[in-house]
Amino acid sequence: MSSRWPERRLSMLEAMGVHLWLPPEPPAPTSTDDSPPAAATQVLVSAAPSAPSAPVPAALPVPAPAASHPTPWAEPAVAAAVPATPATRALRPGGVESMDWHALREAVVGCRACGLCESRRQTVFGVGNERAHWMLIGEAPGEQEDRQGEPFVGKAGQLLDNMLRAVGLTRQEAEPARQVYIANVLKCRPPANRNPEPPEVAQCEPFLKRQVELVAPRLILAMGRFAVQSLLASQEPIGRLRGKVHRYHGVPVVVTYHPAYLLRNPLDKARSWEDLCLAAEVLARVNAERDTPPQA
Ligand code: URA
Repeated sequence: MSSRWPERRLSMLEAMGVHLWLPPEPPAPTSTDDSPPAAATQVLVSAAPSAPSAPVPAALPVPAPAASHPTPWAEPAVAAAVPATPATRALRPGGVESMDWHALREAVVGCRACGLCESRRQTVFGVGNERAHWMLIGEAPGEQEDRQGEPFVGKAGQLLDNMLRAVGLTRQEAEPARQVYIANVLKCRPPANRNPEPPEVAQCEPFLKRQVELVAPRLILAMGRFAVQSLLASQEPIGRLRGKVHRYHGVPVVVTYHPAYLLRNPLDKARSWEDLCLAAEVLARVNAERDTPPQA
């Protein structure tokens, strides 16, 4: 225990609100248990779309989960106040795939490609270092984000900031290795924080894809099921996708729980800590391989 959790990490975990008294043994799995079996963590590369990027190590040591709890992913499903918009309402400017940062921002601000434009206060583009090594992707703006125009500024954002601090990262001004870039799948708040609708995700997807291309991160942390569904085109529960390295257009992707979920399920903070450690390990490997000159 003490070798796995050195003093510094213990105090950082405290900052995240992770208590390292280990919770009781897991109950038998149920149909709603999306957690992996205790020894099942592994590393593999998913079948997500690929494009050239830094190689991902074939195998990495992954720490075993510190806790296991049957915690199905359950975002509150609130009835849609704005009906899903037909995908045919194509009021997003063309040419997103070749836009620079300025043009992309303007395109998002003026986007009317789905019904969310009717209820948003403002769009929430993304924040952070435009050359960040770490890119974090969440779901959609909530009320505070819709008011302030910045992702993850509510309670979930405070937890996210603590988690970032625990691994030496920040959203504040810093060099690309330390200052992350944060974006969401959706750039507009769904009314009453309901779940994103598939047509909304589809309309917003080119913006996120272009953000990833412009940042060119060395690692993506996909937080929550909508980020996972959008990036990996997977309907698998988070618990089955954790502990592996996936890819989005060639960029390594590590999957973790959404901070809002962690607020409701604090015992899973220990698992998200494991995910952050995995992400840091993957990035260290990527960096090492970039620094190694090719053999003649
Ligand atoms: N949840 C998200 O997924 N994104 C935000 O920006 C805020 C809350």
